[in-house]
Amino acid sequence: MKFNLHTHTKYCDGSKDTEDMIKAAINYNYKIIGISSHGPLPFDSDWTMKKKDLHSYIEEVKNLKKKYKNEIKILLGLELDYIPGYRLDYIDDNILKSLDYWIGSIHFLGQYKNKKYWTVDYDLTELKRGIQESFEGNVEKAVIQYYKYMEDMVENYKPYILGHLDLIKKNNRNNIFFNESELWYKKTISSLLDKVKKSNTVVELNTGGKYRKYTENYYPSNWILEEINGRDIPITISRDAHDIESLDFEYEDSIKLLKTIGFSKIYYYNGKTWEKIYI
Ligand SMILES: [Zn+2]
Ligand SMILES: [Zn+2]
Repeated sequence: MKFNLHTHTKYCDGSKDTEDMIKAAINYNYKIIGISSHGPLPFDSDWTMKKKDLHSYIEEVKNLKKKYKNEIKILLGLELDYIPGYRLDYIDDNILKSLDYWIGSIHFLGQYKNKKYWTVDYDLTELKRGIQESFEGNVEKAVIQYYKYMEDMVENYKPYILGHLDLIKKNNRNNIFFNESELWYKKTISSLLDKVKKSNTVVELNTGGKYRKYTENYYPSNWILEEINGRDIPITISRDAHDIESLDFEYEDSIKLLKTIGFSKIYYYNGKTWEKIYI
């Protein structure tokens, strides 16, 4: 039973229309496709949906749901950003109620001295400058703060899915900022996972970074997946697809990896409840 709940479209930084992604999903034999464009932010950005487009996005996905109901189950979602200072309070409750589900992600970690928000995943220069301006160049402090925000999001907002848990490693190639085997990093992840365990949030294995060749492995790293399995935290698999090819990238391989790590099941949301598939 193939499913994917993390799909972007032209409403944000995806390269295809919603209907193209749905047709591709049908072609790839998916049974459930969740559309999850980046939701509008309280400030300007070029990679998220504009506030004025939200209504038509919702209407479009709802119409496509009906149009393709005999071929695939379509779920209406959004990938929503926890933003330092705003948290997720800038999202209207009525919007949340109109969705089937949402993914909670953290891309922003702070503000430059000129108040502009910076992200951990855009590029190396942005991350370097951000850590310099918001954390006086202290990498450990910055990374720990990233995961503290994630703990706050999980504990207080309970997203359906926790998006790309260790996205902050994207620009950490060759361990330029930190080494994942350092004790402080391991402790930080461990603390986060304890919080996730107590929530109803499902963690995703996300193949997006590997598809775009930013990372050698998936989000999160294999040793974190082991920790997740050790705590029996539910896991789902996501493509984080921004184009047609990425929608089917390493589907079987990602399941195989989970099996190798020791997982016996993965979870998918069907619009009402989480169901499990034994692998
Ligand atoms: Zn994301
Ligand atoms: Zn995404």
